[in-house]
Amino acid sequence: MKTIGFIGLGVMGKSMARHLLKAGYPLLAYTRTKEKAEDLLKEGAVWKETVADLAREADVVITMVGYPRDVEQVYFGEGGILENARPGTYVIDMTTSTPTLAQSIYEAAKQKGIHALDAPVSGGDIGAREGTLTIMVGGDEDVFLACKPILERLGTNIVRQGGAGAGQHTKMCNQIAIATNMIGVCEAMAYAKRAGLDPFKVLESIAKGAAGSWSLSNLAPRMLSGDFAPGFYVKHFIKDMKIALEEAERMNLPLPGLALAKQLYEELAQAGEENSGTQALYKRYVKA
Ligand code: NAP
Repeated sequence: MKTIGFIGLGVMGKSMARHLLKAGYPLLAYTRTKEKAEDLLKEGAVWKETVADLAREADVVITMVGYPRDVEQVYFGEGGILENARPGTYVIDMTTSTPTLAQSIYEAAKQKGIHALDAPVSGGDIGAREGTLTIMVGGDEDVFLACKPILERLGTNIVRQGGAGAGQHTKMCNQIAIATNMIGVCEAMAYAKRAGLDPFKVLESIAKGAAGSWSLSNLAPRMLSGDFAPGFYVKHFIKDMKIALEEAERMNLPLPGLALAKQLYEELAQAGEENSGTQALYKRYVKA
């Protein structure tokens, strides 16, 4: 079986790497804060001291870091993946990052005979834990097909959307749809409370009707229970909305709904909630 190197063992990466270990892949691990790898190392993953060490030994390198700047750091430069991986290696960036950076990685990888995919995900911490992520892929068809058996260990809805960057563009569509939906979910729950209804009972009705959404089913119960742990960090959501707005601006496409959501989330972050889960937007409406 191919040796997989996994970089970035946070909320998402740790669960994803665990599925690969359980599937029997030899797994090399590296993440910025080593303590976050301890469980996986006990379960059989092998720690690598640097990105370069990991990249030299892996047949496939998967990255799930935080921001585009983190992606740049692990891929480029002397100690980066592209400088150290062998020709023929597959590299898959699953971080939510920019389409432009995905294209740069693809081009730089190609020069070295390395095969690159962008493959961001949706489905949250639950999807990562359960191996039921939606995976949106950009890159060459033959590379996609070669990597698909690995991606199938992580997700259940895996679609190649086009060439390099198409996965990240698709993820932006996902985030645009979620952004205004989060406002709707919070406002519906705040209204239910103010109207003297039992919001959990309201959810029994509306989560299964035309208003149904992943956020309504999974995040509304968390906000109503006062559970604001991430999940999906407010700070990462703001990062995604910024990327989507910048891309839309380049395409001359005004997105006022997304702009409003970004503004509300930025205010939330300024109020000290940047490391909370995105369901913390509810605090704007109801004192938790
Ligand atoms: P996270 O918990 O912050 O995990 C990111 C991990 O990458 C952290 O452990 C971080 O190290 C590590 N890292 C960052 N830069 C690194 C570097 N240069 N070298 C090595 N390791 C590095 O975030 P997450 O929730 O797993 O999300 C990861 C990505 O997936 C983000 O782009 C996010 O937008 C996206 N995403 C998240 C969700 C979700 O529901 N959580 C869903 C879909 C997509 P430290 O521990 O030292 O910070």
